[in-house]
Amino acid sequence: MVKFFTQLQKQVIRYAGLLHESADEDIRRETYRVNLRRLVVLGPVFFVIELSLLPLEQYLLGVGNVLLIFLIANAFVYPFVYVASKHQQRISERILRLATYAYLLTFIGLGSGLSLKGLMSTDLVHVYLMTVVAVSIFFIVPPFDHLIFLLCSMVPYLIIYPRVLLHKEIRYVILNNVIVFSIMSWLLGRMVYSVIIRMLKAQQKLEQQNRMLSDLARRDPMTGLLNHGALQELLWATIQATQGTDTSFSVILFDIDNFKSVNDTYGHLSGDTVIQRVSLTTLDSIGEKGGVGRYGGDEFLIILPDTSMQQACEIADELWAAIARTRFAEVTTPVTLSGGVVSCRCEADLSVEQIATLLIKCADTNLFAAKSRGKNQYLSEMVTSP
Ligand code: GH3
Ligand code: MG
Repeated sequence: MVKFFTQLQKQVIRYAGLLHESADEDIRRETYRVNLRRLVVLGPVFFVIELSLLPLEQYLLGVGNVLLIFLIANAFVYPFVYVASKHQQRISERILRLATYAYLLTFIGLGSGLSLKGLMSTDLVHVYLMTVVAVSIFFIVPPFDHLIFLLCSMVPYLIIYPRVLLHKEIRYVILNNVIVFSIMSWLLGRMVYSVIIRMLKAQQKLEQQNRMLSDLARRDPMTGLLNHGALQELLWATIQATQGTDTSFSVILFDIDNFKSVNDTYGHLSGDTVIQRVSLTTLDSIGEKGGVGRYGGDEFLIILPDTSMQQACEIADELWAAIARTRFAEVTTPVTLSGGVVSCRCEADLSVEQIATLLIKCADTNLFAAKSRGKNQYLSEMVTSP
């Protein structure tokens, strides 16, 4: 049944020229969010206004029962709107739409009810027209849904009018007004919808581009790894997250052995390829366990949150083995690494910057010691309460 109506909607949109900006789920959800947010505020405001007007309108126009029906319907629908607005991320699109439309129907119902009830004593058709226009302007409703709304709201006029208003000419003028206003409102709503969807799409695109740009700014252009600045941010964030807890984290600082001679023997382009290949192998080897970045030149830093010394050493063993297995095209001399592995539990009162500096210094000392001991190895050190 739902599938049939979805198909029908698509066909009607295609053939009746109701084409509008199509929107993906994120954008549609944004429109529900805006609508519901407005309803959450407007609902109680209308409720209080109509409640305070009830005695006066009953006395002057005898339309108290229409207002009462609106207030009761509102009291039922509003909690639904409120809950939908508060939990919109967890609620299906259909329910969000239902909550919005249920409220809007009570609103348009109030307009048509007032105008029909007051028909014999005064001209309240403008109240109906105002509600129809308000819905078109203040709410983001897709053209097809809007059309259904307008058709539904016209039904009372088509059924009730001929019975209560016998004066043919007046009936004709009022019906004419209702139809013309409905068409204008629909066109207006269609325009509002399409402008807002286009605006949301542009905003979405801009946000995507901004995310891409800020991601690019954090990457080393040659390897695609995190750059020095991004590594520092990650290190600070990792220290901050562990400070005061009893979890430890680790870093591995490593450097390619005898890289100058690779450049001298095979040329700088081959040297670049070696750096790129080492980066890829490191990324593969670390996976989701931590962040990898190019610290500078042929030096790399791995940050491993929530990783003990023993786990960090196992990761380093895997990496050293993976590099030993890697083939480096025309570079036939073995590519090896030297590194320093440092694990840390930050319990002291030192600042994040001080801990970061100490850690890097410690990793660097171990890296240097590994080089002095003959390269192709790493040395590890546990740093507690630095
Ligand atoms: P060690 O084993 O002591 O590390 O010796 P090494 O020859 O690797 O010496 P070091 O790490 O100090 O040298 C790094 C060299 O890497 C110096 C620099 O010319 C080269 N280098 C730095 N960045 C790049 C790069 O992006 N591409 C290439 N091809 N070479 C680079
Ligand atoms: Mg080196």
